[in-house]
Amino acid sequence: MKKYNFNAGPSILPKEVIEATAAACIEFEGSGLSLMETSHRAKNFQPVVDEAVALLKELLSIPEGYSVIFLGGGASLEFCMVPYNLLEKKAAYLNTGVWATKAQKEARLFGEVVEVASSKDKNFTYIPKQFDIPTDADYLHVTTNNTIYGTELLRDIDSPIPLVADMSSDILSRPVDVSKYGIIYGGAQKNLSMAGVTFVIIKEDILGHVSRPIPTMLDYRTHIKKGSMFNTPPTVPIYCALQNLKWIKKQGGVEAMERRAIERAEIVYSEIDRNKLFVGTAEEDSRSRMNITFVLKDEYQDLQDEFMAFATSRGMVGVKGHRDVGGFRASCYNAMSVEGCLALVACMKDFEAQH
Ligand SMILES: *Cc1c(COP(=O)(O)O)cnc(C)c1O
Repeated sequence: MKKYNFNAGPSILPKEVIEATAAACIEFEGSGLSLMETSHRAKNFQPVVDEAVALLKELLSIPEGYSVIFLGGGASLEFCMVPYNLLEKKAAYLNTGVWATKAQKEARLFGEVVEVASSKDKNFTYIPKQFDIPTDADYLHVTTNNTIYGTELLRDIDSPIPLVADMSSDILSRPVDVSKYGIIYGGAQKNLSMAGVTFVIIKEDILGHVSRPIPTMLDYRTHIKKGSMFNTPPTVPIYCALQNLKWIKKQGGVEAMERRAIERAEIVYSEIDRNKLFVGTAEEDSRSRMNITFVLKDEYQDLQDEFMAFATSRGMVGVKGHRDVGGFRASCYNAMSVEGCLALVACMKDFEAQH
């Protein structure tokens, strides 16, 4: 049976990206070696990193003065690296969920943290609209897509201080005005690659302004200077990212990714709104295109396990909601097809007809 992968992360990748990565793991570009046993300093590996950096810059129209680096440690390590490198006295954080809270917690180890707004009062079902950005803070941190709660900040905020964004789960799903950001980072396993690599896009001139010493590995300047090769980078995940960046370009770039994201979200949300059994959890104007969260209406709560079993029997994978929200979550990342969304909708319709 055909499987439709709605996993939140690690998550769906285009078939050709998986095939190209798998092929390189068997033999890397006719070298007689597997990519897994190839040195990151090999002549044939350097172009992989260079091309991945160049393609990410091209696809997101990253301006001059920015560097792209690939690191280990996941988005979670960035929660610590960002304040380590940027927080001198005070930082501002927008609290839109568990990941945003975790990011803020790390910053508190380095200085004062101001929470500019929070949607915790309603279990993070919305993105706060009005908030003041303290101009004396070193940066403002936002999480553009809240993977667990299914909310998304779809605009690039105008910030008088450097804007830092965790874009783990919506990177490359829409055009972004990178010039408005100081740092954009994320774990690659949601929308860019397989697990194991972190991408960081940094405006170079925001670095070097803190007085504390920074451990070498946690200093962004180390990795910028060495072109992500200070130590051994995650070679296979970087190769996989390159294949995916090529795929995105071939599909028409981030504009095409955005058109598809809008189409997929429209298909699934309109069924949630129409279907008598289900209700969306996020407020309408904060709905994420990437992670679509919904629950059974109060009167149908006892159908939870039955719907999960029904969806699974129809080939849906990973639609169980996060424990903090409950219900269901359909993660519709770049590689998800309209066909997959239509299959999920058909499943919801057929289940409704049975009840
Ligand atoms: C998954 C996720 C993280 C954590 O990423 P790791 O790479 O596992 O550390 C952080 N932020 C957001 C928005 C996420 O979706």
